[in-house]
Amino acid sequence: MRYDYPVIDCDVLVIGGGSAGAMAAIRAKEMDPGQRVVVFEKGEIKYSGCIARGMDALNIVAVPGISTPELYVESNGLACEGIMDEPVNYRMCERSWDLLKKLESWDVCFPLDEQGQHEVLQVHPKGRFCVTMKEPELKAILSERVLESGVRVLNRTMAVELLKNGGRVTGAIGMNVRTGEIIVCNAKAVILTAGGTARFGLPNNGYLYGVYDFPGNTGDGYCLAYKAGAELSGFEYTLIYYIIKDINAPLLYITLTRGANLLNAFGAHREKEHPSIKSMLLEHHEGRGPMRIIMSHLPERKIKEIEDILFTTERPVQERFFKGRDVDFRSGEIELWPTECFLCGGHGMTGVRVNEKAETAVPGLYAAGDTSLVARGHLSGAFVFGEISAESATEYAARTEAVELDRDQVSAFIMRRDSKLDQSGNPIPVEEFEYKVRRIINDYIVPPKNEYKLNNALWWMDRFRKELVELVRIGDVHDLFKAYEVENIIQCATMSATASKERKESRWGMWHFRHDYPDVNDREWMKHIVLSRGEALEDIKISHKEIIKM
Ligand SMILES: Cc1cc2nc3c(=O)[nH]c(=O)nc-3n(C[C@H](O)[C@H](O)[C@H](O)COP(=O)(O)OP(=O)(O)OC[C@H]3O[C@@H](n4cnc5c(N)ncnc54)[C@H](O)[C@@H]3O)c2cc1C
Repeated sequence: MRYDYPVIDCDVLVIGGGSAGAMAAIRAKEMDPGQRVVVFEKGEIKYSGCIARGMDALNIVAVPGISTPELYVESNGLACEGIMDEPVNYRMCERSWDLLKKLESWDVCFPLDEQGQHEVLQVHPKGRFCVTMKEPELKAILSERVLESGVRVLNRTMAVELLKNGGRVTGAIGMNVRTGEIIVCNAKAVILTAGGTARFGLPNNGYLYGVYDFPGNTGDGYCLAYKAGAELSGFEYTLIYYIIKDINAPLLYITLTRGANLLNAFGAHREKEHPSIKSMLLEHHEGRGPMRIIMSHLPERKIKEIEDILFTTERPVQERFFKGRDVDFRSGEIELWPTECFLCGGHGMTGVRVNEKAETAVPGLYAAGDTSLVARGHLSGAFVFGEISAESATEYAARTEAVELDRDQVSAFIMRRDSKLDQSGNPIPVEEFEYKVRRIINDYIVPPKNEYKLNNALWWMDRFRKELVELVRIGDVHDLFKAYEVENIIQCATMSATASKERKESRWGMWHFRHDYPDVNDREWMKHIVLSRGEALEDIKISHKEIIKM
């Protein structure tokens, strides 16, 4: 039989070329320059992912003499309200200073004061861990290093299915999002770094892509891992941020740590009380929002400093946004609002369960960054666990034989893809369908939650799964890959409603607030809710796991 798709063999396949994936690929080549490392990236590695361009801080670094990994574990435990495994968080923080030094050796800019010290800010409940970074070229630096180290990067390639042999993951099927062509990668080890579910709830601005997190992240990593048999957790942690209205871009700590004032709708000052996103969101929902940032009292030098960071490093588009709205930091105010709801391991606590070696429950499968659960690890977690996953995958690949490709699995996928392409006569455009799915997520999964709403969410997601096949039009490749994305959003919503229904208490402020169980109940619920695949794909198994202490 003739097969008309290319097959590439490699030692380590990385799925997702964002922060964690780029770091994993670089580290895999450092570990063994001779091994073959491939990256599947849905977008273009030069700009894709949360970083896109640069970032203003490495949020978690234990700077010697200022803080320690032990204090970080304590501090993050408070922020996670106890639902946090200590060893992975300790491991991440323990390696954070070496990570910073490594980034500096790559010419990533962490500004130093006149005494040669880093700026270290407090944004956690306890201790100072947030080191200011000022590197508009961060993603370019990473992607160049990936390419220079000899990694083969396949841009515009969306991983659509993991290959399995027995219990082991042995590669992935990728699909070019522009041509629809299939490419198969036979790998000894696979690292999942496909981010979280940024396109989950619908943002107030009404744009499908106008979200806080990288809009190309549609929970693909979670769904690939789920289908392959991995364990997932934290899907009830439905995160909503509180940032610049409409553009949904960050600026809070950049301004507050430099002297800006935070006022609620009645003019009461809030900047002194270490305003967490959680507390601002509560204030907003209690009717004292929107909160506003005011900088008119600051000297010109400070305002320039803030503008310099905001308009160059993280989202330069902010400059145009504020100009377009006639907002000048010297006289105007910046209105803050809740973002859409999203799922994420880096800002939140949703992810594939991994141990200190970034191993999942499935042999050959590793996870890092927002796809994995190293609670609230942010960029530091993505980088450090990117490295750890590469070390573990390299070691596994070195002692493992490659297996022959299971052509039947690929053929079955191609048949399913082709039947999707037969949907060209269906009436509903995939964008409209995505809008509806995410509107229903807003109605029934976004907190405040209750059992009635969550049951409705599950009913709707079941129905959407069928409608995606029976009603949604797939006229070209663009529609096709969007349909795969929406399928994953639906699966993530199902997992989120399932876990939210299971956790019969309220925790993490608004993020998992249930009107029918309004109190925190540590006695019964100080544990993880773990999801895994049952016999059939739709059967989500629920189990409870103890919190792992050191
Ligand atoms: C706006 C914003 C500001 C932030 N600011 C900070 C900060 O200042 N400090 C800090 O410490 N942290 C910050 N964070 C958090 C931090 O950036 C993230 O936790 C981290 O970058 C996540 O890295 P990641 O590799 O997991 O995900 P990403 O960097 O998002 O990468 C995921 C990649 O996977 C690709 N992908 C998705 N699906 C597929 C698929 N099916 N096949 C192939 N590829 C796929 C995507 O295209 C993307 O490139 C910020 C996050 C955001 C969104």
